[in-house]
This record gives sequence, C-alpha cells and structure tokens, in this order.
Amino acid sequence: MPELPEVQTVLDGFISSVANKAIVALECYYPGTVIVDEDLPSEPFPAVVISSYRRGKYMVINLSGGSSLIIHLRMTGKLVAACDSTDILPHERARICLQGGEVIHFIDIRTFGKIIHCVSQNVPSYLPKLGFEPLEQDFTPVKLHKLLAGKKAPIKSVLLDQNIIAGLGNIYVCEILYRAGIAPTAIAGSLSSKAAISIVQHTKEVLNEAIRVGGTSISDFRRIDDKTGEFQHFLRVYQKKTCPLGHEVTRIVQSGRSSFFCPVCQATD
Ligand SMILES: [Zn+2]
Repeated sequence: MPELPEVQTVLDGFISSVANKAIVALECYYPGTVIVDEDLPSEPFPAVVISSYRRGKYMVINLSGGSSLIIHLRMTGKLVAACDSTDILPHERARICLQGGEVIHFIDIRTFGKIIHCVSQNVPSYLPKLGFEPLEQDFTPVKLHKLLAGKKAPIKSVLLDQNIIAGLGNIYVCEILYRAGIAPTAIAGSLSSKAAISIVQHTKEVLNEAIRVGGTSISDFRRIDDKTGEFQHFLRVYQKKTCPLGHEVTRIVQSGRSSFFCPVCQATD
C-alpha cells in the first residue's frame, strides 16, 4: 500500500509527465473510480496543471479553469505514463489523456483507488480529517508529546492513525520505531518527551530518505515510469529476520497488521 514517500514519488512523476501538456480528457472504465463533482463546468478540458501538493496519501492537482484532480491510490492504485495507447489495459480503471496522444493509465487491481474531479474550492470537502503533515515544520516533538498524552493505545496504532499524523503506513512506522528505539507495543501516553523528540526526528529522516530513492517497492509499487523504488534495500526491520546489529527480529500482529521489531534495540517504555 503506497505510503507518503510513494505518493510523493508518484505525484512528482505525474507532474513531470504532464509538464507543458494540456489534459484533454479524463476517462473512466470502472464504475465509481472517477467521481465528478456536480459543480464542475460541463467542459472542464483542456486544462493545464497550475500547481499541486500532497496531503497525507492524497495528491491534489490544481488545473487551469478552476478545477482540481484529487488522486488517491489506496491499496493497489498506480499511475503509469505511456506514449500512446488505444486499448484498455488489464485492471485499467481510468485514464488521463494528454494533448499529443500521451496518456496516464490508472491501474488498480483492488479497485479501491479514486480520482475525484472537482472545482478547486470544493477540494477540502472531499478530503477526510487529516492530522499533521510529518515533513512540515509544525510537526514538532512538543506537539507530538501533547497528542500522545493520556493515550492508552500502543504507539504503533497512534502513528498509523491518519487523524493524528497523515501519510504513515505499516512499513515506515516499523522503521521509524526501530530507529527511535521504541517498541511498537509501548503505550503512547507513557512515552517521555525524549521519546517524542526521537520519533519526530526519525520520522522526518526515514521519509526523506525514502522519497530520495523513489519509495519502497515491496509488493507492486511502481513509479510512474514503471520503475521500482529502492528503499526496500534500506529497511532495517520490516520483513527482516535480523536487525542491523544481528538480533533476531520479532513479528507480532497489532490491529490486524504485522509489526516487525527488535526486542533488544527497542524498549517498551
Ligand atoms: Zn536489534
């Protein structure tokens, strides 16, 4: 499942693929994949990209003419740029057609992904409540420590909660907690301000490193040019047998997801 670094990688690839080209159509091949806002003008295309940003795992692409695309890859969605293609590909749910015949395929095996086309001022109404952007400056240890106070849930569940921090998923939370030296089972509210400093620092560090190498390709994640990311080569505990110090990695299941951690390197308080 794409997390923040993979979504950022896809967005960066999308923006370079559409640079200086107008989008001439958005086609939908699977009911519900494309959601069209009722306020949208009847002919929103052609339109060019004027700005873009990522919020959590959502990409927001603002177009000329006052409309925006919100792309959410969810479990298995991916965007694949191609020079031209007339046939609908296996699992292709939608397609963004560019001037000159190039296309961006939206491939999604599980069909949970969405492309919303709305007037730009309606973007907030299509996004759920999302917490801190972990790479922004306002995500600070003091604020995280305040958020954790009183929480009886394990720290891993809290970090995965998109209402608290937006964009983290299973792989990166395992890696962040390993680097921070904190067990995924540690009770969030019991963590010290020193632990909060470490979590914030390692969150930013892990995410930036992963973005730099194009994300993690463990299952089917691909960049828009269909190349793999490289961060899987830098994982320290996720799906590993031993940590970098040679200790045996433990796998437990928390809220239905696998947690990988080192019982020696990671403390429970
Ligand atoms: Zn270890």
